[in-house]
Amino acid sequence: MPAITLSYCPTLQASDAALEAAQETWQRTYLGMSEIGRPCERALWYNFRWARPVRFDALTLKRFADGHAGEAVIVGRLKATPGLEVHDLDTSGEQFGFLDHANHFGGHMDGVILGLVQAPKTWHVLEVKISEKWNELDKVRAKVGEKHALREWNPVYYAQGVLYMHYAQLTRHYLVCGSPGARRWTAVRTDADPAHAAWLTAKAERIIFADTPPQRIGGPDHFNCRMCDHAGVCHEGKPARRSCRTCLHVTPSRGGGWRCEHPDFPHELSLDDQKAGCPAHRFNPGLVPGEQIDAGPHGVTYRMADTTEWTDHGQEIAL
Ligand code: SF4
Ligand code: SF4
Repeated sequence: MPAITLSYCPTLQASDAALEAAQETWQRTYLGMSEIGRPCERALWYNFRWARPVRFDALTLKRFADGHAGEAVIVGRLKATPGLEVHDLDTSGEQFGFLDHANHFGGHMDGVILGLVQAPKTWHVLEVKISEKWNELDKVRAKVGEKHALREWNPVYYAQGVLYMHYAQLTRHYLVCGSPGARRWTAVRTDADPAHAAWLTAKAERIIFADTPPQRIGGPDHFNCRMCDHAGVCHEGKPARRSCRTCLHVTPSRGGGWRCEHPDFPHELSLDDQKAGCPAHRFNPGLVPGEQIDAGPHGVTYRMADTTEWTDHGQEIAL
């Protein structure tokens, strides 16, 4: 048998596979302030309802890890700078966190900073990002001015910053963006935007308490849809993940937590309950690509887009 030269290292391939297998596949429990600036409300609703398992490839997971490490390096360098006062933890030793809408909407800021050379007496929300496009921020600043640069460069980061200022009751935001590895960096300051913060919190409330998926942003060829992790569920009729959050009996409570409203056994749901679901799970009709034509104790029947009938009996669907 002739020798074959492998074009990859099987050891590293095994390591990548282990990394992918070990990842958490459940979305976070709340709608994130770091994502609320994204344009498609339906995609945010899908995230909040855990419509699909979260799965990233090894390269992406390693990029996330690089980002976290680079952010920590930058915070450390700022802390070591004479004249700067940086806090990345609150008085109880936890990351600064904010919750709203009965804890269904949340976010964590990187810290607060005082002593910037440009504004030495003003506390700023501190946010640190790592991006391969870090130097594009400089180009945008040159074009639109520093105070408008973040909004122009990345509306999702801008939304996050505006909300952190709102919840921290600060009027200034200082974003430091470093290159991967944190060897190069730049920064922009941004002013508070109370009107946009109010609009974003209202958007979050609308998504959290929506019983059915919000409108699509476009068809399958829309720019956002082509890049969207939910395109399978949204446009291709693929099944959502079964958990309480995709069940037609569930409600996110306005007093906090999630409640099963099944008529035979209404009860509050712990996080473990929500992940486990139960045999009485029936999909939220907004997650089924068909028209509901019957419903009874044993199932909900739909006429699907291809005119066949399908009854949701609650059985597990392999994803
Ligand atoms: S596929 Fe498009 S419409 Fe559907 S959730 Fe994603 S971005 Fe929104
Ligand atoms: S019926 Fe079962 S799956 Fe549905 S919300 Fe209640 S406990 Fe969860």
